[in-house]
Amino acid sequence: MNLGVYIQVPFCQTKCTYCNFHTGVVAREKYGPYADAVRREIAALAASGEISSLRDATVDTVYFGGGTPSLLEPSALAAILDALRRNFAFAESAPRDSEPARDVPPAAPLEITLEADPETIAAEKAEAWIATGFNRVSLGVQSFDERELQAAGRMHRRADIFAATRILRDAGFRNLSMDLIAGLAQQTRASWEESVARVLEIRAEHISIYLLEIDEGSRLGKESLAGGNRYSADAIPSEDAMAESYESACARLADAGYEHYEISNWGLPGFRSRHNLKYWRREPYIGVGAGAHSFDGARRWSNVHDSAKYVACIESGISPREQIEPVTQQQALEEELFLGLRQLEGIDLAGVEKKYGVSLQARIAGLREQGLLEMDGANLRLAPAHLTVSNEVFVELLG
Ligand code: SF4
Repeated sequence: MNLGVYIQVPFCQTKCTYCNFHTGVVAREKYGPYADAVRREIAALAASGEISSLRDATVDTVYFGGGTPSLLEPSALAAILDALRRNFAFAESAPRDSEPARDVPPAAPLEITLEADPETIAAEKAEAWIATGFNRVSLGVQSFDERELQAAGRMHRRADIFAATRILRDAGFRNLSMDLIAGLAQQTRASWEESVARVLEIRAEHISIYLLEIDEGSRLGKESLAGGNRYSADAIPSEDAMAESYESACARLADAGYEHYEISNWGLPGFRSRHNLKYWRREPYIGVGAGAHSFDGARRWSNVHDSAKYVACIESGISPREQIEPVTQQQALEEELFLGLRQLEGIDLAGVEKKYGVSLQARIAGLREQGLLEMDGANLRLAPAHLTVSNEVFVELLG
């Protein structure tokens, strides 16, 4: 059995205006003790009976997410990976000199991803990352437009994205992912098309496109709800404009040879995110760090969100686990629908019905009549023309 490992690094240099994640801006002195706590949690987890069902699993994907994990010292990232290697069986890495040319899927059975912000990247760091074993970097680009980046409170500027890409390519990274957000404040159709054009020009192997979510927990969300104009809250594109931007990107990415495999994700052939596929396929993964979530196939659990509390728990030998819940059959079925339908290939309807001993025909009939769900051979999938209303479909399907 294969296993994914997620390492949460909940620190950022500043808080982006639209962000509602559990991340904090803390003094750099806190990074070292946090990384130490993560290493200790890995060792404790492997030694405990908590994940006995995964004891024989082989780690084939590791994902450092956040937050901004690229803020940690390369030596701290290396020490965490080393702790994983010492405590878990790892799939083999392909030798460096067999790394494939651009646009050829990497042969490495092991995918190790680091999320990074463009302004945090320097040549020495990138070289250290690749020497440590990272073979994929996911860059939080969001936009190539200066006004959008500024309104979003991002630290990087357009030039930083090009510089970071060059540094990463020179260091040997052949698998880059870039995130864009449709609907950022100050975004126009022209600025959006420009961002899509630049990411295609760079030919990132993987592209994620998210629609801006206006969350009341974010600074932008609060301002927008209050009708104010700070953070350019009065210059957020309409939902229709966001949907048009997404749809135009779908067409351009398809023309450029990218496979659209999940609502928000595209990859060149062979470059899908193997780690994230585990979430949508309900395959096991363990999460380490503050607020990290885990799933062993039968239970889901998570750690305390607060990074200071997390470090205190680990240092006092107390479990950082906050919630451990068995997944009921009903929940498993709902996850199968909700997560499975995020993938564009959809779900094997008869297979799911057989596995759970239910018929889903009555549940899906109305949505099929409305053209929101459709059959593609034996698979049930979201109709490609209605991906931007997937949340509404899920609410109706699971309601
Ligand atoms: S870098 Fe990411 S996690 Fe950090 S504040 Fe910005 S959006 Fe949130």
